Order: sequence, then structure tokens, then C-alpha cells
Amino acid sequence: MTESQPSLFDDGKDRPAAGHAVPVSAGSRDSGAALVARVQLEEGSSMELDYGIPDELQGRLQLGSRVRVPLQSRQVSAVVVELLRHSPHAAKLKPIAGLQSSRPMFTRGLLELAQWMAHYYLVPLHRVLRSMLPQAVRQKPESFLKDSLLELTAAATAEQIELLEKRAPQQAALLHALQRVGGSAALSALRREMGIDVAVLKALERRGLLQRSALRLERDPFGDEHFLPSQAFELTVEQAAALKATIQAIDAPQEHRPLLLQGVTGSGKTEVYLQAIDHALKRGLNALVLVPEISLTPQTIERFKARFHEMQQQVAVLHSHLSDGERHDEWFKVQEGRARIVIGARSALFAPLDKLGIIIVDEEHEPSYKQEEAPRYHARDLAVLRGRLEQCAVLLGSATPSLESFHNAQCGKYEWLHLSRRTDGRSMPLIRIIDMRLARRKGTGMKVEHAIMISEHLRNAVAARLEKGEQSILFLNRRGFHTTLDCGDCAQPVQCHDCAIPMTWHKAVNHLVCHICGARRLPPKICPACGQQNLKYGGFGTERVEAAVREIFPKARIARVDTDTMQRKNQLRDTLRDFRAQKLDLLIGTQMIAKGLDFPNVTLVGVLNADTALNLPDFRAAERTVQLLIQVAGRAGRGEMQGEVFVQTHAPHSPAIQFSRHSDYNGFATQELEARRAFEYPPFSHMVLISARGPQQNLAEFTLQTLHKRLQEGLPQGCVMGEPCPSSLVKAHGQFRYQLLLRSASIRPLLRHLSEVMRRFGGDPQVQLSLDVDPINLSA
Ligand code: ADP
Ligand code: ZN
Repeated sequence: MTESQPSLFDDGKDRPAAGHAVPVSAGSRDSGAALVARVQLEEGSSMELDYGIPDELQGRLQLGSRVRVPLQSRQVSAVVVELLRHSPHAAKLKPIAGLQSSRPMFTRGLLELAQWMAHYYLVPLHRVLRSMLPQAVRQKPESFLKDSLLELTAAATAEQIELLEKRAPQQAALLHALQRVGGSAALSALRREMGIDVAVLKALERRGLLQRSALRLERDPFGDEHFLPSQAFELTVEQAAALKATIQAIDAPQEHRPLLLQGVTGSGKTEVYLQAIDHALKRGLNALVLVPEISLTPQTIERFKARFHEMQQQVAVLHSHLSDGERHDEWFKVQEGRARIVIGARSALFAPLDKLGIIIVDEEHEPSYKQEEAPRYHARDLAVLRGRLEQCAVLLGSATPSLESFHNAQCGKYEWLHLSRRTDGRSMPLIRIIDMRLARRKGTGMKVEHAIMISEHLRNAVAARLEKGEQSILFLNRRGFHTTLDCGDCAQPVQCHDCAIPMTWHKAVNHLVCHICGARRLPPKICPACGQQNLKYGGFGTERVEAAVREIFPKARIARVDTDTMQRKNQLRDTLRDFRAQKLDLLIGTQMIAKGLDFPNVTLVGVLNADTALNLPDFRAAERTVQLLIQVAGRAGRGEMQGEVFVQTHAPHSPAIQFSRHSDYNGFATQELEARRAFEYPPFSHMVLISARGPQQNLAEFTLQTLHKRLQEGLPQGCVMGEPCPSSLVKAHGQFRYQLLLRSASIRPLLRHLSEVMRRFGGDPQVQLSLDVDPINLSA
């Protein structure tokens, strides 16, 4: 990368070494005089290989084309990364065997982005390229076009499944998965969750536990939907200013910094997005909108489809709840140039959209923008980079920006736009802090087992809403009924065999479930650790809250929204619709209901336990908590009515709670940034997290200690390396986990050192090492 080009690096100089051959002049998209194609294989090797371009492909091959090439006796898939006029071996080259799609699968900008990612996240290029193409796109079409419906039969009782668990664990796992989703599911949908072997399906059919039938294909994710066109609002003064700056950035991206739109919930950020996109479209440019998976609700998509009503078909939606067929179709709609707006979750950043006018990242602070498997990229950071590579505007939006972006805006790297008021002129909701240390006190007229979940104040507030016909939301980020089953004698919790966490009891299915690996079992009668018969349930999740609320308010119409209850396709959509239509009084849910939802009649939000995020062993715990609380509070009191929020906590005086109470995000951010600066934590440094995982504890630890020693030699100046230590989740999926944290004010020398040492480091085949650059989850 030259000096003038973008970089997350300190000086913007990094660039993977260029090839040896002479590239076709920059800017030419067709192969013109090119004779040789340099390709990157999709699997197995990170080496680039040269192939000849046969006559019939002359002029048709482009950068980013996906091709078949001969390799030894096979043919494999590869991507063209360079077109060359010469190659030292030109005469001996084998020709490319075929072109897989007439249009390239990667734009030039995306190829550049891929190179950058490989270099920055220390992942081979072929893995980066592979992760940019959805599985449904890489596969042969036939393999996903056929889909079938799998259903449990009446013979598949809990006892039957239990019996299978030892003899045929794969079969049992499949039945469990079906059970979890209410007894039936599309094969394609299940396949996304777990590997499914045809032999396993057949065996279950033979046992009479499973039934398979053909499934009608539903390819347009919104095929049965109709949207009324919506009109643009007349903007508020603040919105107009934000839009003006955004339009300037669209019109002259090279002169503009990324924009950070910080607007309180309900301040009309989305309206600014819509009008900015409208401007881009009118200029013949396209728009990419990233939304966290969790807020990619039908309601969000509706708003876009309704506004761009005449061109609904040109809006492509990409997220993980699509079937493979839908995803295939939506993706090719983009690749074939039939989409002008793409809305999607994290990986939609790689949509092959050209002529980009603007990239929008909504809720830019959301941790879900970080991919937690290699390449461990951050879609928000990459959005900024893609925007610079492809010369388009980048707009990051949030009510509670990440401290990284907040800092960038503060020091002028980003242009800072503010929406300080709600569009309806309402004040922010009143936030009341409830000290749950007092919850067990007597004389409240509530059962103690209820009062520890729902304080008397909150109960009274809900009752008042029910009386007035207003709606309430109760929020708790934990699924299940009881969160622990402890032994009264030896005090050990019943843990998952494979993970070092207590199992959660789910009452509806009467199983203990591991929330890390999904393992399930019947609750034991005696303590697995000491053999005594004194097991006691404790803790509460959404399932238990629902039961309590139904008992306290027998007449209320209640729905629970979490991944246990929302398994059926469209179930979430239907429930939210019912709630909007006021067919429900009260919603109980996990973070599924915290984001991006807009219900005018909700005047009360209760956060049942604000401490779950606060207690995480992560330096971002306070940031997360404040973001979550302000986000959740934003659900209360839209429309005509003043909202009220109850936050239940055992730490009422912690700064995170106190700043949230006053909805003072800037106050929090300013104070928190001071602390981060003092400790040289991000955004004042970059971090790299190295983890070692293996089935043997001492081997995992030893491997990391050895690596630690190697890294110490020649550790660049200014890099600080911690000691290897057990991860806070010591064991998961049967693997023991150790970690090592490094940080450095400048990332470049650290990356170079790491890649050098890792290349020479043998390690142990049983121990899996992984590297996370700019990690955002240190507590896993
Ligand atoms: P945010 O994305 O910041 O949470 P929204 O864009 O969802 O806010 O806007 C909140 C509500 O205000 C929405 O119902 C939206 O339709 C409405 N709205 C947005 N802009 C205006 C405006 N200029 N005048 C009136 N209502 C508006
Ligand atoms: Zn487990």
C-alpha cells in the first residue's frame, strides 16, 4: 500500500509483496493483452499459481473471476488475482480449464480488501477469499436446490432419544436439534447448525423416529410480503445538518473522512440513512447497509423496502436466517448487477456491489460485527477500509458509539455528527435504579422467589401499565428456567462434560442444556461429583421469569422471545407484529428484543439483571453494560407517551449504572477513555490475543508457554506481552483453553514479529493455536 492509501496501520505502508511478473496496467478491467492469469486456489494452498489463458477465454477473464484450473490430476476452483502480460514460465504453463461465471465474483476493491485482511489478520489469502463467498454461492447449484422437511415421529419420545445417546450419538444429536425447534425443520436449515450425514438420516428413518418429505422452495425471503410506500420526512434541523454532511461525502468521497452519526435512540438516524441512500441512487451510485444480525428484523427491512418502493426488487437482503437457496439468489442478484441496495449482517460487507456511493454501518458499536472465527475480522473497520479503497462515503451510526469510534471522532479522524433529540420531541425515559440487594426483604406482599427476579417497584409499574392498556418489555439476557443445579453437600454445580460451565435447566424439555456446546441430558438425581442426593436448582432465566409473570399477572397476554421460543420460520416476525398490534401486553426476552425495535405503545422497560454484562472479566464490560442499558431504555416511550425504565442491579453505585441512569453516554465515554489511556488499552493500543486449545490441559499450557518464550526473543519495542494463563472459560467443547495477550501502540511491528515467529513455530498437532488481532471478546 502506498502512503496515500488507506490503512488501519500506523503509517499506511503495509502491502503484501507484489508478484514478480509485470501486471497489466492498473485500472484496466479486461484482460486485453494478458496472456497469463495468476490465481489463488480456493482450498489447501496459499500459493499463487500462474496459468495460461486459452484463446476461448481471451477477453472474458477478469480480475476476481472464478475459474477451474488443472492441479495434478484434478480440477480445482481458483480466483484470478492478477492478469499478466508475461511470466518467466509462460511457455510451460497449463491453460485455465474453464470460467465458472461470466461475471467476476470479487470486485477489484474486494480483492484488495482480501489482500489487506490476509496481511492484517494473519490468515492465508485463500481462507480470506473463501470466507468472503457464502457457502451457498461456492457450492454446485443442485446441492442446495433440493431441500426436504424433517419431522420427528410420535415414536421419538424423550426416552427413546435418551436411549440412542450412547449407542448412536449423532442420531440423538439430530433428534435433539429437531426437538429444540419444535419437532420439524428444513434439512437446509438444520445443516447450517450441524453437520448431517445421509447415513444418519437413513438410520433414523429405518428406526421410524424421523420422517422426510419434499419441501416447496421459498426463494424470495419476502415473497409473501407487501409494503406500502413511505414518504420521506421533513427533516429536523439536526437531521438536515447530518444529511448535508453525508451528501457532501457521497459527492466528494476523496475529500471526506468517515462520518460518525451519534444520535440518541429515536432521533431519526434511519431517516438520515434513507435520504442519503436516495441521494446516492439518484447519482447512479449504489448503497451497502450493514445492520447487526440481531436487529435485521423484518421491521428494519420493511422500512427500506417501503421507502424504495418502486425498486423493491433491487433491494437485496443477506443474513444468516435465509435458506441456502434464498442466499444464493440474493447474492447473485448483487453479483449480476440487479441490486442497488444491499442490507445485511456482518458478511454482507463482502457483497460484490460496484459503483458504491455509501456504506452505512448501523449500531456500529455492536460486538457482532466481529467475526469470531478465522479470519477474525471486524466488519466496521473493514467498512471504513472498503470505503477508502472504493472511494465512497462511510457513515457509522450509533446512540452509543464504540470507544474506538468515539475516540476517532474526538481526535478528528472521523467527522462527528450529532442528533441529540428524539424526533417526537419527547424527553428521554426516566431511568430508575433498583437495588436488588434488598430484594429478599419481607413484607412486600410478594413471594421471595418472585421478588428476586422482579422487584416490588417493577411489579407495581407493570400492573399500572396493564391497567392503562399500555405495553411493557422485560429484558433478561439469559435463557432457560434455572441457570444452575448445585449440590447442597459439596457445593459443586452440575457441569457440562465438555465445557467448564454449569448447565442450565430448561423446564419445557426437562433437560439440562450446555449453553456453550448445546449438549443436553436429563437432570441427575444424585450429585455427579460426591454422590449425595441433595441437588438444588438456582438462578433464573427467561423461562422462569415467564412462569413468574404469568403467576403474578394471570390475565396479561404475554409472549417470550428468545432462541428457544423463536425457532419456527417467521415466528419472531409474527410475535413482534402481534405485539405492535397490541394483541400482547408484555414481552419477555433476551437481547433479541433489545435492538432496533420501535413500538409506540411501550411505556415501560424492565432490565431484570443489569449485572450479567458488568461482571464479565473483560475491560470492555462497563462499555458493554452502558451501551446495552441505553439501548434497551430506548425501547421505552416512543410515540406520544413518556417512558419509564427500571434497572435492577446488585451494583447500583458502579459508574456504568450511574452514567446510564442519566443517559450520559458522553460522560461515560470521556471518563472511560481516560482510564483506557492510563492503562494503554484500546483504542490507545492494539491487542492481539493468542489462544491454545487442546484435549490435554498440560499440553495446551505448555505449548503456549513455549510460544511465549519464542515471542520474547526480539519482541519489538513498545510491545507488552502478558503471561500465558487459562482463559476465563477454561474448557469448552472438550478442549482446554489457554490464552496470551499482547498489546502495542503500533500494530505493524507486532504483526511482523508474530508472523515471523508463528511461521517457524512447530507446536503440537494436538494443540490448536489461533490468533485474534483487535479481539473484542476477552472473556471467552
Ligand atoms: P433511530 O434510528 O435514531 O432510532 P428512527 O429513524 O427509527 O430513529 O426514528 C424514530 C422515529 O421517528 C421513527 O418512527 C421515524 O419514522 C420517525 N422520524 C424520523 N425522522 C422524522 C422526522 N424528521 N419527522 C418526524 N418523524 C420522524
Ligand atoms: Zn458443553
